Order: sequence, then C-alpha cells, then structure tokens
Amino acid sequence: KESAGEEANYPRWVRVNAVKSSLEAQLETTFSTFTRASSVQDVINKPGKHLFIDPHVPNLLAITSGTDLTKTEAYTSGKIILQDKASCFPAYLLDPRSEDGDLIDACAAPGNKTTHLAAILKEHQPEFETSPQTIYAFEKDSRRAQTLEKMVTTAGSKPTTRIGFGQDFLQVDPHAERYKSVGALLLDPSCSGSGIVGRDSMPELHLPELSSTTEKETAGKMSKRKRKHVEVEAEPLNVMVDDDGNETVMKSDQDLEARLEALSAFQLTLLTHAFRFPSATKITYSTCSVHMQENERVVMRALQSDIAKERNWRIMLRKDQVTGMKEWPVRGLTSACGDDGDIADACIRSYKDDGQGVMGFFVAGFMRIGARDAGSG
Ligand code: SAM
Repeated sequence: KESAGEEANYPRWVRVNAVKSSLEAQLETTFSTFTRASSVQDVINKPGKHLFIDPHVPNLLAITSGTDLTKTEAYTSGKIILQDKASCFPAYLLDPRSEDGDLIDACAAPGNKTTHLAAILKEHQPEFETSPQTIYAFEKDSRRAQTLEKMVTTAGSKPTTRIGFGQDFLQVDPHAERYKSVGALLLDPSCSGSGIVGRDSMPELHLPELSSTTEKETAGKMSKRKRKHVEVEAEPLNVMVDDDGNETVMKSDQDLEARLEALSAFQLTLLTHAFRFPSATKITYSTCSVHMQENERVVMRALQSDIAKERNWRIMLRKDQVTGMKEWPVRGLTSACGDDGDIADACIRSYKDDGQGVMGFFVAGFMRIGARDAGSG
C-alpha cells in the first residue's frame, strides 16, 4: 500500500485520456473489478477497491488510493494518466475548440496539461490526427522538456504538439508569424507548490531562474517520499541556489515573504506576456499554491495592467465558465480581490484537507471582451 499519513485522506485521481481511450472502455477493462462508490469520501474510507466518477471534470475518476496502476497496460500505453483533479481544471476551463486556432502551453513539463488539451481537442474533432491546429508546448528546462516529450508521445498527443525544448516563454515573440493564429494560452508557471499533498506547513519554494543541477537532485531525493506524479508536475524545491551555487534552505517567514513576492512578479510577467498575443481570446492562469500573493494578487495586478486595458482582457466570470467549473464551490478570496465579489467568484480554488480529496490549487480564466459573448459559450 503506497498511501500513508496525509495521503491516506486522498483518493488516487485518474484521467482517462480521450486521445487513446474512453471512460466507458476503461470502466469495462482496467477498472472492471472496482465497486462504484457514491462519493469521494466513500472511495477514501471504504475498505476494498472503489471508484467514483467525478461530477466536475469529464473523464476523471477517483479510485482507492494505494492502487498501483503503473504496471497496467492502460497506464503504460497512455490510456490513463495519473493526475490530481485540481490539475485537470486549467485545460478544462480553457475549453479549447477548433475555432480557437493554435494553442500555447507556456510552462509545459511534464505535460499533464498539454496532453489534457490534446484530449479535449480530440473530443471535439474526431479528425484530430490531421487537424491543422497546433499546441505549442514550451519548456525552459531542457531536461524536463524530455520528460514532456515522453509524456506527449505516450499519450498520443504528438500529431498536434510542437515542443519548444529549452524554450523560455518570455522570449517568444507574440507578434511572430508562426503564432499569429494562437487563440488560447494555458499558463501554469513555477510556484511555491504550497498546495501539494505531502507537504508540511513550511512551503518549499522555487524560482525558475534558480534552476541548477543541485536543485534538481535535491528535488529528486525529496520526491521519492511523495506522490511522484504530482511532485514531478510541481517541481518542488526548498533550497535556494544563488548565482555562485551557494545553497540556502528556506526557513523564516521573512524568506517566505520575499520569495512569494519574487514568484508573484515572475508570474505576473508571464501572464501579461500572454495578453500580448494578437489573436488570443482565452487564457488560463494556474498554480498549485494556496498563497494569495501567487494567485488573486497576480490576477488583480494583471487586470490593472496597461496591456490588459489596451487589449480589453477581463476575467472569465463564473457565468462564462464550462459547466463543471461553474459548479465547483470553492472560489477566490474576496479580501484579496479588492473586495470585488465578482472577481473572487470568478477565481477557482481548492484546499488540501478540505474533504474534497484534492490538492491545494488556484486557477483563473481571462477572456477578451466580446470574444465568447459572440461565440461558443
Ligand atoms: N503544466 C505542467 C503540467 O501540468 O504537467 C506543470 C508545469 S510546472 C508547475 C512549471 C514548469 O514551467 C516547469 O517545468 C518549469 O521548468 C517551467 N518554466 C518556468 N519558467 C518558464 C518559462 N519562462 N518558460 C517556459 N517554461 C518555464
């Protein structure tokens, strides 16, 4: 049994990959011996092997934790992907369609959300393999980009995906000819990872520009103790390395505040860069952090930016969101949204340990005024 301690309060989340299989097919094969439960709590608490079909995110299952699926044919062939429920929110909220043209996943490795975008495209257009739509998946860290490529290949997303190995999204020119048809972007940047299950109260922080071999080795050692698929996605680190290679373990609240401010500034820069793509009409911004500095505060600052005003970006209100996200009950912090209840209500949150069996997470959608009002809904 894998689960222990805090992780025993969570199910194992499984996304059925619509590029390669269907929920029905998986229920009849990989999960044929599982008993249907009537809630996530039943999956967590009842003895035996249970499963629950998630009511918010399509093609998502909660199954009894500790079930090792990594040796199943469905897993090795990319028919199922082990991905926390909250990590499925951004691609589902972005809701890419053929009319959105090309897509960008700005911070893509290891590829959970890239492959989810491909799966959603496939569901809307069966001729997916020959579709002219491209998903540009950028990843600044070359080593992580190789993991991304493996995942994209296994999941069958390759025909539509172009990987930017070692590509810094901030160096991508929004006005380049190649990106002129990019209609939707998914931004899931490096963050503190404070929402990850298995963390203690001291968040482990990482600034993207501090990537070094030492950091990655440290992360590698840490990740063995935790849920691997989530950890790799979240790139968890608690060691700062300066330009001279000196390591500092994060300790005090003061360190934390400074790091959160630096992360927040980086995340805001990415988001306002995304606002510049000329044909873009939809963006999602997400973190696996519970800190408002990385979440609502980034959203508020982005909305107040000159580029947002110039290009008519606004937040994707609850009424504009896909059904499952409209119905998701946990929303943003009003106090961090300048007491604007509509903006807070537009923000989607989750907290670990709140009984939903989900990691701590944040996602907000943005749209250009008039874009969806006239279109797909
Ligand atoms: N979206 C991924 C998934 O769901 O599998 C997880 C992304 S992880 C939270 C953030 C990733 O962004 C890391 O792999 C990091 O190396 C990458 N990254 C950070 N800054 C970047 C930048 N400026 N351009 C491209 N990638 C970046």
